[in-house]
Amino acid sequence: MERKIYTARLSKKILLSESAQCFHLRFAVEGQSAFDFLAGQFISMIATDSHGKQQTRAYSLASASRGNQFDLCVNRVEGGFFSNMLADLNLGETIQFHGPHGLFTLPSPLTDTIMIATGTGIAPMRGFVEHLFPPTQPDRSEGRSLWLVYGTRYETEIYYQDFFKKMAAEHPNFHYLPTLSRSQESWKGLRGYVQDYVRSVLTEHASRNGLTTASASQQLHAYICGLNNMVSANRELLKEMGLDKKQIHFERYD
Ligand SMILES: Cc1cc2nc3c(=O)[nH]c(=O)nc-3n(C[C@H](O)[C@H](O)[C@H](O)COP(=O)(O)OP(=O)(O)OC[C@H]3O[C@@H](n4cnc5c(N)ncnc54)[C@H](O)[C@@H]3O)c2cc1C
Repeated sequence: MERKIYTARLSKKILLSESAQCFHLRFAVEGQSAFDFLAGQFISMIATDSHGKQQTRAYSLASASRGNQFDLCVNRVEGGFFSNMLADLNLGETIQFHGPHGLFTLPSPLTDTIMIATGTGIAPMRGFVEHLFPPTQPDRSEGRSLWLVYGTRYETEIYYQDFFKKMAAEHPNFHYLPTLSRSQESWKGLRGYVQDYVRSVLTEHASRNGLTTASASQQLHAYICGLNNMVSANRELLKEMGLDKKQIHFERYD
């Protein structure tokens, strides 16, 4: 079957972090009143490089489905073709893509859910949170306990901090835990790697509910997104804590 190729025009561009050269990009899909997708899915962007070769790269949708718009969160990869092309895209310019693709989506009905991300792996988590707590529609979180454990190196690289803080302040069942691996003295929050907090979050949740960690683990789903090493370490940890592989969803960016 022929894949439908869409054209998207850049309508908004925000530099999220100067040091990480990370951008929030908003696109509008040309000629469509709606571009429907499930939170957590990705699109495949297509462009021709300087050798005339067609290049395709996947990018997670960093928003919930919203009319004909979608958001991306992209950082420059040193020497990389596509990430730098997107980071250099000017407002009004267009790019082609196909999709949406992928099974990195929330279960229905929703269960308690732990989201684990580093760097731009925050993109699908932003989509999940926007879907669960839509700005103009009723809460879709069904009262489930939701955690977002987010790791970056420095405070300047905590993408979308204001958004997630606001969601956590407005929704007591959503817990936002950013942690820094190379924090400065002045940082008052969590320090270390995401794995350190995944274990404590799940253990505390089990004991609050009078359950063993293994039985509490059977009732939740985990979503991990980022670079391969972090994804592997967290998959191992979650299996060790009693989650079945069907409960562990992951997206590897490299
Ligand atoms: C399902 C999926 C979703 C993705 N979503 C996002 C997203 O939301 N935001 C985003 O910024 N990226 C995302 N990526 C990664 C993206 O597809 C590209 O791999 C990335 O932008 C680099 O492409 P490039 O053409 O610039 O580099 P390339 O020319 O492909 O690679 C240059 C070098 O960088 C290494 N490399 C590739 N990707 C990364 C990376 N992410 N970090 C560090 N080194 C890397 C390669 O091994 C290679 O050595 C996703 C990948 C997948 C598979």
